[in-house]
Amino acid sequence: MSGSSAPEELYNAEVVSNERLNDALFVLKVRPDDGAPDFAPGQFINIGLEPRLPEHAGRDGLVKRPYSIASGPSEPLLEFYVRLVENGALTPGLMALEPGDRLWADGRCIGRFTLDTLPEVPAPAERDLVCVATGTGLAPFTSMLREFGPARRAGAPDARFDRMVIVKGVRLAEDLGYAEELEAWDRENDWFTFVPLCSREPDDSGWIGQRGRVGQALESAAFEARCGFALDPARSQIMLCGNPAMVDELEASFAERGFKKHRPRDPGQVHLERYW
Ligand SMILES: Cc1cc2nc3c(=O)[nH]c(=O)nc-3n(C[C@H](O)[C@H](O)[C@H](O)COP(=O)(O)OP(=O)(O)OC[C@H]3O[C@@H](n4cnc5c(N)ncnc54)[C@H](O)[C@@H]3O)c2cc1C
Repeated sequence: MSGSSAPEELYNAEVVSNERLNDALFVLKVRPDDGAPDFAPGQFINIGLEPRLPEHAGRDGLVKRPYSIASGPSEPLLEFYVRLVENGALTPGLMALEPGDRLWADGRCIGRFTLDTLPEVPAPAERDLVCVATGTGLAPFTSMLREFGPARRAGAPDARFDRMVIVKGVRLAEDLGYAEELEAWDRENDWFTFVPLCSREPDDSGWIGQRGRVGQALESAAFEARCGFALDPARSQIMLCGNPAMVDELEASFAERGFKKHRPRDPGQVHLERYW
């Protein structure tokens, strides 16, 4: 800890709401004292609390972790979609936060998992943006959709994509946070498709959506049947976010299909964000 100040003195943001979706998932909305910082959809921010165990404290006494921002940049609150890691250093404390509680939020948003880092070719007006998430890896994509969806719907020239697909894999249907919002976008916009998949939903649960893992929804025939177009390296940009095993597996399988990892000096089609 630096100096003699208590870690809580570093707190600079207030919890506005903390909605539990189930035993492990929650949506945390936070108001930074100085207002939400500028960010691009897809970026993340570090947030922190005083740790429950001293060994988790960083140099300033807080335990900090990065979280993708789920809200759009024009929204007044920062929104985070978080999964509890049992015995994790930070998430049990985040999950216990109540409205009015304080925490630390960095004033700097970082990361290059953003639409402005996509290569110039294909042009946004011809680009299919295919976003693949496991679990809370959805967060960057809700931010992108909330920010650029209205422009796309209005046919604005600064829309960042022609068609957008979100493929989201979870174990159980109860883990499908944001499903209502995404289903509404899907219903109301023919350029947007939401593909939720459950890998371990019991057969008799009444779930009528797709079963399996995200890779299955991306196989050529399944993807085309559901989304109405084929994945094509000439116009599809693929963004993968969440569980590193999923990211690694899909990066390899897309490479076999002619999609390569994007690098600023060597443009490609596959963009990655690993959560651990
Ligand atoms: C760029 C970036 C953005 C992120 N955005 C989000 C987000 O929007 N929502 C979110 O829930 N998490 C996000 N994370 C993960 C987050 O930073 C923390 O690692 C996570 O919340 C666990 O923190 P913890 O201190 O409770 O666990 P720790 O004590 O740090 O334990 C972490 C360990 O738990 C395991 N683990 C199991 N499930 C997860 C999981 N879902 N995430 C991380 N580790 C897991 C891993 O083995 C990992 O090494 C992001 C990570 C990165 C790098």
